[in-house]
Amino acid sequence: MFRIRLPRFYPVFSWIQIEVTTKCNASCVYCPHYLCRSSWIKRDISFEIMKFIEPALPTTDLVYLQGWGEPLLYPDLWKMIEFLKKRNVRIGLTSNGTLITREIARRLVEAGVDIIAFSLAGTDETNDLIRKGTTLSAVKRGIDLINEEKKKQGTPLPRVHLAYLLLKSHFDQLNGLPSLLNELSLQEVVVSPLTLSLSPELDKEVCFIEELPEHKLIFLKELKRKITAQKLCDNMVIHLVSKDITELCTEKIEWSMTISSDGHIYSCVLSMVPVKTKLFYYHLHAQCEMIPNEFGHFQDDTLKNIWYNKSYRSFRKRHLKENFEELACSRCYKRKIVTI
Ligand code: SF4
Repeated sequence: MFRIRLPRFYPVFSWIQIEVTTKCNASCVYCPHYLCRSSWIKRDISFEIMKFIEPALPTTDLVYLQGWGEPLLYPDLWKMIEFLKKRNVRIGLTSNGTLITREIARRLVEAGVDIIAFSLAGTDETNDLIRKGTTLSAVKRGIDLINEEKKKQGTPLPRVHLAYLLLKSHFDQLNGLPSLLNELSLQEVVVSPLTLSLSPELDKEVCFIEELPEHKLIFLKELKRKITAQKLCDNMVIHLVSKDITELCTEKIEWSMTISSDGHIYSCVLSMVPVKTKLFYYHLHAQCEMIPNEFGHFQDDTLKNIWYNKSYRSFRKRHLKENFEELACSRCYKRKIVTI
C-alpha cells in the first residue's frame, strides 16, 4: 500500500530495484554472470545510494535489493535493510539460498524483510546441474530455516516466494512441483521463461506458447489448478513467451526505477548487465546488440530530476506509444509475456 505523506511532485513507485552487488557464488548455466565471466565487472553499490533514494521512499511501495548478483554477499546489506526499515519501506530480495544459515535466517526475519524469493530451475538434482554451485537441498533448507524463524519470532514475514525458471528442455521437471511445494511452506510461486538469452543454444530454451504441444498447455493449466486447489501456496503465476503477441513490458516502467551497482539509473535490469565488452543476445533466434536504457547517475543529480529528465521522460512516452526502434525494448521478451 502507498503511504500518503507525499512530498509534492515526487514520482510514485511500485518499486525501486537496487542492484546491491554483481558478485555471485553460483554459476547458473543460463546466467550472464557465468556466460560473461571473462568480462564480468564485480562490484558492490555505494551505501550513498540510500541518501539518493531517501526523498522518494515515502512514495515507494517496495525496495527490491536485487540485480545480477547474490544480495547476501553485499557487505552493507544489514545496514541498508536497517536504513530502509527505519523509513517504513517494504523490502524484498531474491537469493540462491546457499548462504542462508540459521543466523542469517534469524537476522532476515528480525530485520523485518518483507519478501524473500528463492531461485530454482528444477525440482530434483537437475536443478543442481543447471544452477551450478547451488543445490535444491540448500534452497529447501533455507526456506525451512526462514519458516522456523518466522514461527519462533511470531511473524508472518518475510513472505517466501519461489522464482522458478522454466527451460524448454526441462519442461518435465514441473511434474515434481506439487510434491516439492507439499514439503515446503511458501506463499507465492512464479514460473517464468528465460527472457535474456546470451547464446543461440539458450534461445532454444525459451518456452514459446505457440511451440508448446496442446497436452503441455493443458498440463500447465492443470498444474496451476491443482496447486491452487490444494492450497500449496497463496498465489501461483505461470508465464510463457509469445512469438506473436507484443504488449507493454512486465517491468511497469511507469512505476519503477532500477539502479545498477555502479549508481546508474535504468528502466530495468535487462539492459544493465555489468560487462566490460559489448553485449550480444538473441531474440527470436536473431543476434542483437544490447543497448542500455540508462538515464543518469546518482551522483550527478537528484532522483526527482533524473526521473523527469528529458531522456527518461521521452523513454517512458515512447514506451507507452510502443515506439522503440533502436531501444533494447524493441527486441525484448519481457514485452511478449503471456500468463497461463
Ligand atoms: S521492454 Fe525489456 S528492455 Fe525495455 S524496459 Fe521493459 S524489460 Fe526493460
